[in-house]
Amino acid sequence: MPNTNKIRLAIYIFCSLIVLSSAAQSILPPLIEWHGKSESLIAKTNDPWITAAEKSGFVTTPDYKETMNWIKKLADASPLLTMISIGKSVEGRDIFMIIASTEKNITAVALKKSARPLLLAQAGIHSGEIDGKDAGMMLLRDIAFGNKKSLLDKVNFLFIPILSVDAHEHSSAYNRPNQRGPQKQGWRTNAQNLNLNRDYAKIDTKEIRSVIKVINEYDPVLYMDIHVTDGADYQYDITYGGIGKQGYSHGIREWLEHTHKIFVDKDLTANGHIPGPLMNAFNDRDFSQGNLVTFGGPRFSDSYGDLRHLAAILVENHSLKPYKQRVLGTYILLESTLKLLATSGQTLKEITRKDKAERIAKIPTGWKIPQIQNEVSFDSRTAKKETDANAGVPDSMYLLGIAAVIRRSPVTNSDYVEWLGKPETKTVPDYKSTQGIDFITRPKGYWVPASSIDVIERLKIHGIKMEILKEPREVTVEMYRITDHVFEDDNHILQPFEGHIQVTGTTKTETRKQLFAAGSVYISTDQPLGDLAMLLLEPASKDSYFSWGFFHSIFQRTEYIEAYIMEPMAKKMLEESPALRKEFEEKKAADKAFANDQNAILTWFYSKTKFYDDRYLLYPIGREL
Ligand SMILES: [Zn+2]
Repeated sequence: MPNTNKIRLAIYIFCSLIVLSSAAQSILPPLIEWHGKSESLIAKTNDPWITAAEKSGFVTTPDYKETMNWIKKLADASPLLTMISIGKSVEGRDIFMIIASTEKNITAVALKKSARPLLLAQAGIHSGEIDGKDAGMMLLRDIAFGNKKSLLDKVNFLFIPILSVDAHEHSSAYNRPNQRGPQKQGWRTNAQNLNLNRDYAKIDTKEIRSVIKVINEYDPVLYMDIHVTDGADYQYDITYGGIGKQGYSHGIREWLEHTHKIFVDKDLTANGHIPGPLMNAFNDRDFSQGNLVTFGGPRFSDSYGDLRHLAAILVENHSLKPYKQRVLGTYILLESTLKLLATSGQTLKEITRKDKAERIAKIPTGWKIPQIQNEVSFDSRTAKKETDANAGVPDSMYLLGIAAVIRRSPVTNSDYVEWLGKPETKTVPDYKSTQGIDFITRPKGYWVPASSIDVIERLKIHGIKMEILKEPREVTVEMYRITDHVFEDDNHILQPFEGHIQVTGTTKTETRKQLFAAGSVYISTDQPLGDLAMLLLEPASKDSYFSWGFFHSIFQRTEYIEAYIMEPMAKKMLEESPALRKEFEEKKAADKAFANDQNAILTWFYSKTKFYDDRYLLYPIGREL
């Protein structure tokens, strides 16, 4: 091939690649030009510790190997940084964490005991949303060799650069169509196709088990989980916060809203960023009907933190803002949080101690938007919302929005939103699910039978304290009988979610003398993780092990009786009990299908004998009152 043709071919291939990789970028809503003071944080090209993202002008992000090699080199060169593995993924990759501290002893035991407040921040739980990794690398570099060492004078810092390590290497230019950079992004779910930010209650994954181990062993005072949104357009480039009024840690919530948010927003604004609260379009499309913030339940990092009385912040950078802007905003957020902890960390520690000491007599297992009972619901599983035009009056918020028009689609013949890229500020309703529902009275404790091995294992990993029976013990407990249950389905087709078939049920209580075998455990609710234990063990809770399907075997009846035995037995039962006869006649009169179903009738009589399977539909965990 002549040289000119080779060059033409090379140019053609090069251009095709650009077209392909920017295919999604070119159809994104208009880009708003941004410059801010935080740009001065970017290392000069001759800086020996320039990060890969900085070197590329924030076009690309380094892969796992390049990231970890760079951090290892940095940690080897600095006495302030130590890199450790906190666990391995299913594909065998180490999940690394960097300990940044000026203390001599940096073991987990020592840092847990240390008077200094400890920040734990993690990036890449959804590895395509990787802003936190590149921000953290810059910040660690500036702590080690820049002018940011003083951040560690009074605070210790733990940083996980990539949590979903396998998914980070499942990288492509086609993973996140709604996001402006980096050029290639990791995948949302881990190698098992499980979403790590739905795994905090059921803890099926090694990644989340590793993080919870860190939380238990190091006892951070603040936990930060860094994401990037999808969804509607607005001016804010960085949105973050705790879970707000809904939740189980009232002192922590106040601190996050009235101390942290105010302090950090000021720093972000001074650096040219536009911080905002967590945003979800109420109608799933635009903000014409307002914003909606819900309590997702302990399957999510922020709700999980709140439930175990650990200040937890969810960070959602805005996917339509350029990568550079997002990384720099995250840097400021991390730096500002470390600064605040130096002055206010002791107060947060004290507040946390108080929240951990609370033993609320009745706690809700769910939350709804007040005033709008049964008219607005939100299913965190499907993210489907049911709205009602007559909904009650919520709070309002001053929204830094982006102008939009509703257009008619020639493709679907329906309306869709087009974002115009122009700032539009307006006041909109701000819905929050702050009203507790389905309250549960706090028992003294729970008895979990030895047979529930998967559940006991998980409760231990959460750090819930328990007494393990060495000998069998008979105790009087309250137990739930499931009276009605439905396996989660989608239009009557059973649909697994995160590898589980979920179930919801109604219950009635029975007081029973129950024998618990050796190996069974007793869990007192008089402990800091008592609230967490309740939401994991009460069937009414959407994130309980019952709801996640760990007790499906109770839905199967064992043993049966032959009709030739049941016939004379039923006849005898009717002769001996006029009350039973009355109940039987009434049931036949009320239920024609029953009256004409021999099997149903004999099963009905069978269920009233002592031969019937007593464990059928009996939730095996006992409540000690
Ligand atoms: Zn995410």
